[in-house]
Amino acid sequence: MKACYPGSFDPITLGHVDVIERAAKLFDEVIVIISHNPRKKCTFSIEERVDMIHRSIASLSCADRIRVMVNDGLTVKFASDHGIDAIVRGIRAVSDYEYELTQATANMMLDGRIETVFLIARPEYSFLSSSAVKEIAYNDGEFRSLVPEAIYDDVRKRMIEIRNEL
Ligand code: ADP
Repeated sequence: MKACYPGSFDPITLGHVDVIERAAKLFDEVIVIISHNPRKKCTFSIEERVDMIHRSIASLSCADRIRVMVNDGLTVKFASDHGIDAIVRGIRAVSDYEYELTQATANMMLDGRIETVFLIARPEYSFLSSSAVKEIAYNDGEFRSLVPEAIYDDVRKRMIEIRNEL
C-alpha cells in the first residue's frame, strides 16, 4: 500500500519526521508531498524545502521507501494519478482535528477511494509546528531539539537574514 503525506514543511520539523517514520511502518511506500500554494507566503522556496526534506530523511532506516514530490493541485487528484491509497495527516490538538475533519470529508466527497489516515502527534512534539520553530529561531531561542540536525543551520541562517532585512 502506498501513502502520501502532504504539507507545507516550511521547514520540516522533528514532528514531521516522526509522522513520516510511523507512516513508513504502516505503508510500503510514503510520498512526502510539498503542497505548493502560491497564495501562501512561505519562508523557504519549494527547492529549498525539497532539499531539506531529502537531507532530513537520508539517515532513516526506511529512507529507501520515502519519496519527495511537489504538487500544486488537489491532493486527491495527485493521489489518484499516482496510484496512492491513503493520505496521512498528523493531529496535535483539537484545533487540528476540526480543520483536518473538514479537509478529509471534502476529500472523501471528491474521491471516496482515497482514505485519510490520522496519526496522533507524539506528546513531546504535540506543541511543535514550523511556525513555532521560526518564531523561536527568529528570536534567537534554542531550537536544536525541534528540527533535524541536517537543516538546523539552514533555518538559523534564514532567520538571521530575515532579521537583518528589517
Ligand atoms: P499544512 O500547511 O498542510 O498544515 P504542515 O507542514 O504545517 O502543513 O503540516 C503537515 C501535516 O503535518 C499536518 O497534518 C499537520 O497537522 C502535521 N504536523 C505538523 N506538525 C506536527 C507534529 N509536531 N506532530 C505531528 N503532526 C504534525
